[in-house]
Amino acid sequence: MAYLEFKFEDQITKYIREQELDTSLKFITLRKDKHFGQKDAQPLAQKKLSWESKSLPFNGVPFQVVGTKTYECHQGKDRQTKAKEKYAAERDKKELEDHAFLQRRKLVQNTKKVDCKAIINIAHVIRFPDFKIEESTVRSKKEASQTLKAALSETPSSVKAEVVYCVRFPSLSEHSSHAVVGEEAYVREAVDARLREKIEQLTLSGVRKMTEMKCHLNTFVVEELFCGEQPPPPTRRRYYPTDSDIRNVMFKTKQATRDPNIERPDEGPSRRGKKRSSRKVLQLRKQCAGYLKEITDLTYHLQDEQCMTDLSSRLKSVLLDMKANVPQDTGLPLTFSPRKRKAEKAMDPLPTKSASHPFTGGVEQHTEDIVSVDTLLALTLG
Ligand SMILES: [Zn+2]
Repeated sequence: MAYLEFKFEDQITKYIREQELDTSLKFITLRKDKHFGQKDAQPLAQKKLSWESKSLPFNGVPFQVVGTKTYECHQGKDRQTKAKEKYAAERDKKELEDHAFLQRRKLVQNTKKVDCKAIINIAHVIRFPDFKIEESTVRSKKEASQTLKAALSETPSSVKAEVVYCVRFPSLSEHSSHAVVGEEAYVREAVDARLREKIEQLTLSGVRKMTEMKCHLNTFVVEELFCGEQPPPPTRRRYYPTDSDIRNVMFKTKQATRDPNIERPDEGPSRRGKKRSSRKVLQLRKQCAGYLKEITDLTYHLQDEQCMTDLSSRLKSVLLDMKANVPQDTGLPLTFSPRKRKAEKAMDPLPTKSASHPFTGGVEQHTEDIVSVDTLLALTLG
């Protein structure tokens, strides 16, 4: 294990990234205090003084902890067991109900988590080098603490304070239940963060085929990540993710962009998204057609002049709104039924229902067979 010190938070992230690149390891954030990384952290007279911590062994210098952050090995404890059990139970229930078996991957081991105990401890501290003690005794600690606290409450500006990030980085031997080097470790590697980003980008730009995706990723690894260098062996999962690794990132990306509010403006919706939205549009169109039909029907029965005037002005404003929202160049037919050729119309003894036009949908027609919205407005106006 190694105890390290950094002046800035981003230096730690960079260091961890470098360690991950040199090995087959990967660390993920386990927990982080609210105040960790706080830029304007100040020493406080009433705050607890410490002499040692997980990431900072005793060296005689007292300090105050601003916040801590812990990373764990990505093959650590499985914290999703409850959620996974719930998912499995729901899936089994669904299978029983539907009498259909959902497609399932055959997995020897259903998780990469092996309860590895390796963790990185980081403490963001403010230390007071001028109050260093020589021996770790209760008495010397107590005396130094009292003097320091008095100085902090009386003349805080006179107290020399250093902000530092102390890190305890685990050794390879602290990783348990999984290989850390060689081929065995390669197969359990996590996908490189830059590759994940690339998969996200490609997914958003519309790449769906696995072969195409892998082709792009190979080019990215060889020509960008390892430009001018010997590319890594194909056994490195970090650089050559499995199909399921890729599928997972693609799925998460698509899921994240499903909400239209967070959809990135430069990306078109996925094909499935389009289908869903067009179904929704159809549904809404039918609903609107229903309201319009009812309004038309009721208009014929409306007698009160005031009501009619109100309705007219409201309809007019709705119409203006609509005109502003309908693209004028697409020539959307604003008629209630498809126009018929004159000859055809003459042969039609009775007004008929038009089959699939969204604005009719089985609407029983009045004598005005072709009624434009403008005509409707004119009608309602009297
Ligand atoms: Zn581990």
